[in-house]
Order: sequence, then C-alpha cells, then structure tokens
Amino acid sequence: MTTVWGYDDFDAHEAVHFVTDEASGLRAVIALHSTHLGPAAGGTRFWHYAKDEAAVTDALRLSRGMSYKNAMAGLPLGGGKTVILADEAKTKTPEMLAAFGRAVNRLGGAYVTAEDVGMSVEDMIAISHHTDFVAGLPVEEGAQVGGDPGPHTALGVFLGLKAAVKRKLGKDTLDGLHIAIQGAGSVASHLARHAVEEGARLSIADVNTARVEALSSETGATIVAPADILFLEADVVSPCALGAILNEDTIAKLNTPIIAGAANNQLAHKEDGQRLDARGILYAPDYVINAGGIINVSTEYLKDGGPELVRQRIEGIPGRLDQIWEESEASGRDPAAVADAMAKRLIGRA
Ligand code: NAD
Repeated sequence: MTTVWGYDDFDAHEAVHFVTDEASGLRAVIALHSTHLGPAAGGTRFWHYAKDEAAVTDALRLSRGMSYKNAMAGLPLGGGKTVILADEAKTKTPEMLAAFGRAVNRLGGAYVTAEDVGMSVEDMIAISHHTDFVAGLPVEEGAQVGGDPGPHTALGVFLGLKAAVKRKLGKDTLDGLHIAIQGAGSVASHLARHAVEEGARLSIADVNTARVEALSSETGATIVAPADILFLEADVVSPCALGAILNEDTIAKLNTPIIAGAANNQLAHKEDGQRLDARGILYAPDYVINAGGIINVSTEYLKDGGPELVRQRIEGIPGRLDQIWEESEASGRDPAAVADAMAKRLIGRA
C-alpha cells in the first residue's frame, strides 16, 4: 500500500490532512506544501475523482503550484490547496460546506482557502460562517479590495504579454499585432478588451458558442474553431482556457513566436518547456504571468493595502518575467525551469 510519502507528487509537503465528516458526507484532502513565507494559501477544488488516489495527487500537485505562484508574486503567503471529493452527481450541501469550514478553522490559520474549480463566491460565504481563514469573498461595504479575481488576472496577463512582445518583437505596443486567444471566459474577455484598446487584432475560440459570439461582437475579434486557435499564424498565442495544451504534438504545430496566457499548467510535461525553447518560442511561465488574481485575494485577506498596492504588485509581473527570461538566456535553461528554480529558492528549498 502506498502512503502519502510514496506519491510521485509528494514534495516534502509540510502536512496533508485527510478530512472526513460522516454526517454530511464530506471527504477532503487539505495539502499544505509550504508555510515558509506565510500561511499556506490556495483555493478549494470540488471535483469528482474516479479514484481517491487521483484526488490526493491533485492536492499535492496543486498545493506545490500555489507555493511557487505565491512566492514568485512576492506575496507573504505559502502554498496550499484543498480538493473535496465530490460524488458523481457533484452533490454539494450546506452541511458539507459547514463541515469543511470547521475543518479549515481547526487548522488555526495555517491554511487559507478561496475559490477554485467547482466552488463559487456563495460557497466561500457559506464557509466564512465557520472560519475566518477564507478569502475570495465579495468586496465588503467600506472595503476596497476583494471580489472577482478575473479582471486582476487579466491585467497581469496583459502586462506580461506586452513584456514578451517587447522582448521578442522589440515593440512597445500591441498596435497592429495579431493575438490569438484560446477561451472567451472571464480572464480572456478582460484580456481581449485591454488588447483591443491598444489596437491589437484578435482571433478567439471557445467551445461555448454564446460566449465567443458575445466577445466577438464586443471586440471585433474573428471567431476561429477551437481546434485551430493554437496553431494560427499570430504574434502571440494566449492560452486562457485549459491546462496541458502544450505538448510534443501541439508545440510542433505552433506558428507563433510567443506563448503568454492565463491558463494554469499549460505545459503537459516539464520537457515541453525545453521544446518551446528549442523552437525559439518565448514562453511566459503560467504561474508567474497569471498571479494577478491571487495578488488581489492576498491583499483582501491580509488587509495589507488597497487597490493601489494590488495594482503595484500586478505591475511587478513583467519585471519578474524579464528576470526569468534574462536568466534563461544566460543559463541556456528554458524559462519554465528557471521559474521553478527561482520559486524553490524563495521558499527555502533550493
Ligand atoms: P472561465 O471558466 O471563465 O473561462 C474558461 C473558458 O474556456 C470557458 O468559456 C470555456 O468554455 C472555455 N473552454 C473550455 N474548453 C475549451 C476548449 N477546448 N477550447 C476553447 N475554449 C475552451 O475561466 P477563467 O476564470 O477565465 O480562467 C481561464 C484560465 O485561467 C483557467 O485555466 C484558469 O485556471 C486560469 N486562471 C484563472 C484565474 C482567475 O482569476 N480567474 C487565475 C489564474 C489562472
């Protein structure tokens, strides 16, 4: 039998809590990867897993990702993540959320939760009745920071994308450039607005027809089939939908000098960072460029500043990317590998 220490994704996680509440049917894994820089922060995913082992793997992998993301964003937060094991029908009850809130509370602030896939602002409000260690709540009356992280993520991606354009194409604006955006959801829509405002020409794709049509009529973007968007001849391809879209097959077919988008875990495997590099494609490591949302969540939770601090921290994203690309050029290692190494140094695990 494999213990948690035997999992491939176990990476000296400080603690992994297995939570059970028989009365409500709650089963959850709360993984605390690192509290080196502060409380382990990271959202809760509500998902049906075919096997319990897959839930543990997800919690281990995602919590490590949060340590890296928070460290690279310069936040005083460690990395953690919860997965709640949903049944096939994804039944979510108030009792379950209450039991989860109590479980988070028992950790005494070592872990701070927020939304992730399958969890809404309403769920966070329900959890907040049982613990203070929760963020991603609506902006309180009188407060200035909080609410939907999407626009903040999009601003960081926009600024990071511009830094990539400057570096690779030597251009200061997106005026006249062709940007292909995969997805027409929350982040993609805000990103599209920023890019169009600067004169970019957009192509967009989404499996959700209503969304893609609405965004197209608002921004004048050309609608493209989801199967084609990544492979368009474009100045930038911006993945803002799914993870693991960059692999040996797709990288060989790319027709762009730059990949800069919001999606988490864009590289299917570590080697895909090297594959992009070998093709001369500049890659903006996902957890660095997409940190705008967690920056907003962090400032909301820690109450350590207002909208100016959020903006200032988001404006730090291009500089961090430049640092990564510089080091990548100097060392010959690909940007994703450089970012991982930097993040490890920051959390004291070099
Ligand atoms: P969202 O759910 O609002 O949008 C995602 C969109 O992708 C949806 O419209 C969906 O229909 C579309 N999509 C799904 N499969 C697709 C496919 N095969 N081809 C094209 N489109 C497809 O999500 P979001 O909040 O905009 O997040 C987008 C990505 O950015 C996700 O990977 C998310 O994990 C990541 N991210 C988001 C935030 C944030 O603040 N929202 C922060 C960091 C990272």
